[in-house]
Amino acid sequence: MRKCILGIVCSLVMVGFVLGPTQTIDAQVLRQIGHDKTVYLTFDDGPSKRYTPQILDILSAKHVPATFFVLGFRVREFPAIARRLVVEGHEIGNHGYQHDFLPEKTAAWVAQDVKRTDGTIHQVTGSYPKYYRPPGGLITDNEAKSIVSLGHPVILWTVDSEDWKANSADKIIRHVMDQIQPGAVILMHDGVSNSRYTVEALPKIIDALRAQGYHFARLPQSL
Ligand SMILES: [Zn+2]
Repeated sequence: MRKCILGIVCSLVMVGFVLGPTQTIDAQVLRQIGHDKTVYLTFDDGPSKRYTPQILDILSAKHVPATFFVLGFRVREFPAIARRLVVEGHEIGNHGYQHDFLPEKTAAWVAQDVKRTDGTIHQVTGSYPKYYRPPGGLITDNEAKSIVSLGHPVILWTVDSEDWKANSADKIIRHVMDQIQPGAVILMHDGVSNSRYTVEALPKIIDALRAQGYHFARLPQSL
């Protein structure tokens, strides 16, 4: 299968694929959910003390559900924020314990990292994550098969907001609106230094997508 070199490369490759609810491009990796005007906001690398509460406030005010791909060590560091996002009805996903890139690791290490993060999330929030997203979008076919066998659908994204390198909210808004399509899975971040621009862009993105007839959902519990 395609072994992605960088997350950005993966996101460019992914744009333009149209998949059904249970279809995958590779054997095991999901990128898009369905074809209707539902889109899926996803936030990676948190929870962060500064940005995640601000993002949760915006989502709450606008009644928008989302999915947060959290890091185990940050769940441990900010347990109240991790619990809050679950209590407020958002989906919590597994993004690894401390954002190590999988292809540098052994199969045993990968399985251990996924299970350790599962255990931390469950211990802190009372919920087990359903979905797994590899750090940087980097994953081999064998790694994906192994993680699926642990009970986790593996999901990447169709729209990279590029908020992780943005120097303004306007650039994030433009990246999302230029690439949006029905069933899109939108990659954003609540746990990187540039997340302040994500916080600024988020309400405008929600309003702009709603104006185009899109609505929002958590990643689905059944595929
Ligand atoms: Zn990440």
